Amino acid sequence: MKRMLTGLQPSGKLTIANYIGGIKPMILNQGKYDSFLFIPDLHTITVPQDATILKHNIKNAIAIYLACGIDPQKNTIYLQSDNLYHANLSWILECNTSMGQLSRMTQYKDKIQRGKPAVCGLFTYPVLMAADILLYSADIVPTGADQKQHLELARDLAINFNNKYGKTFVIPEPYIPEIGAKIMDLQNPEIKMSKSAENPKGVIYLTDDEQTVLKKIKSAVTDSEAVVKYDVENKPGISNLITIYSCLSGLSVKDIEQKFGNENYGVFKTEVAKLISQTLTPIQQKYEIYKNDENMIKDILQKGLDVTNNIAKEKYNEVKQKVGLGLHFD
Ligand code: ATP
Ligand code: MG
Repeated sequence: MKRMLTGLQPSGKLTIANYIGGIKPMILNQGKYDSFLFIPDLHTITVPQDATILKHNIKNAIAIYLACGIDPQKNTIYLQSDNLYHANLSWILECNTSMGQLSRMTQYKDKIQRGKPAVCGLFTYPVLMAADILLYSADIVPTGADQKQHLELARDLAINFNNKYGKTFVIPEPYIPEIGAKIMDLQNPEIKMSKSAENPKGVIYLTDDEQTVLKKIKSAVTDSEAVVKYDVENKPGISNLITIYSCLSGLSVKDIEQKFGNENYGVFKTEVAKLISQTLTPIQQKYEIYKNDENMIKDILQKGLDVTNNIAKEKYNEVKQKVGLGLHFD
């Protein structure tokens, strides 16, 4: 069975964009692949975090995954920092990565532009992401479009390593949804929706109640044309709402244009908000139950650690031997 792997940072409350771009593809494919879902908490500290809030977010991440429909029987769920091999493999890969390769990464530039401190970890974290993937020989990696460049780096690093030291890593394939790979901020449809966004008005969190969703969608930036039509260039705001509606309803963009073509934006926005809340309400109800079940969360993480530690150790030792680290006596 091929292996599928993805991670969502515990950098805040998950958003509808994380659900559409990261979680939904995992749910649709769980059972078809050997599925690994991890909490990349080492990535999260690449930007400043409050330790208490970070702990809280890590704990809640498992509960929200399950509430969204991730089946713990069909997925190995684990915490990155529990497993020491991720950072170790990352170091070896870093020694095989050029400054030029990392300088091209746009996420780093974006985050610096948004005022995040220029720490080394933020610069090198795509290599850690490559280690996260390559340690487990993942065949496919579901992500949003924002991670495409990092995935390409992981592929390049794997190919280079294989060429230099002999076949070691599986070359991972990105799995990017055709629609919904880049949900945009509601207040600024030129930038992607992010859970760490400064302005929460542009972001729908999975925990937002009906009133909040309606308010945020109603105040989403659109245009003055008042035609529900998909046109990313000229109508990025309304195109974003069409995309969200399409992802949650299963209707095609064309169907949505036909359905709402004669309606004003107010009517369409109300329907988008309604559909979002219909999706979120059952998730929130389950989340309230799961988040208090500490024993279940602990059990899931322990099981995840047991499974992943063995796989990671084996791959790490293979790499270590190939690059000549340590002493190995037969
Ligand atoms: P942060 O702002 O802390 O980076 P984020 O919202 O970008 O948070 P990540 O944890 O970095 O979320 O990414 C989790 C998953 O969600 C990844 O698969 C990523 O590609 C996907 N994702 C993130 N933003 C979007 C988006 N706007 N549209 C679709 N998918 C997204
Ligand atoms: Mg991100």
